[in-house]
Amino acid sequence: MAIVKTTQAGIGMTSLRTRERMLVRLREQGIKDEVVLSAISSIPRHIFVDEALSIRAYEDVSLPIGFGQTISQPYIVARMTEILRNSNTMNKVLEIGTGCGYQTAVLSRLAKEVYSVERIRPLVMKARGHLRELKCVNVKLDHADGNMGLPQMAPFDCIIVTAAASHIPQDLLDQLSIGGRLVIPVGTDEQILYLVERIAQLEYRQTKLEPVKFVPLLGGIS
Ligand code: SAH
Repeated sequence: MAIVKTTQAGIGMTSLRTRERMLVRLREQGIKDEVVLSAISSIPRHIFVDEALSIRAYEDVSLPIGFGQTISQPYIVARMTEILRNSNTMNKVLEIGTGCGYQTAVLSRLAKEVYSVERIRPLVMKARGHLRELKCVNVKLDHADGNMGLPQMAPFDCIIVTAAASHIPQDLLDQLSIGGRLVIPVGTDEQILYLVERIAQLEYRQTKLEPVKFVPLLGGIS
């Protein structure tokens, strides 16, 4: 008689079906970019959460990852990636707020180079382990305050901020290439997702998208 082990690996096997269900749900929720959907389906979300939570990894919820932070809900990862990509090839992407690295892993399947900045050192280490396990070799992580962006690697054709800012940081606007896109949640009690496009050297177009819920973008490192 076969012994069923409820290990991470065991969940990995059954996760194929739950992952398919997650894709069906994302389509029902309005995600249309099949390239984004296929990148999401290629990333096992359960490896990014503690084993005790991995049973819930394919539910459409954010989950705790320690240090008061969360892994983003699959819908918001899909939605922000779809907006950022805009059906184009992404070359150089900057993510602010690596967390456990889930969104980073999805981006690594879609972009040539991904840079991601996180302010909490143990989360950088955690994300690094997950990204290594998934062989995301085109990703570089930095332990820094993302409010400043990553000037040494700028400009970026895409910037995604996965924590809610009180305002749009000027440094991030400066580090967008012409034609580049920034997706960022802004607000404290009520947060709204914004798309900012750099039309010309000094010209930006700002579009208000939809209400969202993120942990706050803080200052400094820890
Ligand atoms: N992208 C993650 C979301 C993690 S939650 C995912 O895919 O699940 C947001 C993360 O932003 C937290 O880990 C938090 O520590 C980080 N963060 C908050 N303020 C920051 C800042 N100023 N610079 C860099 N990271 C920041």
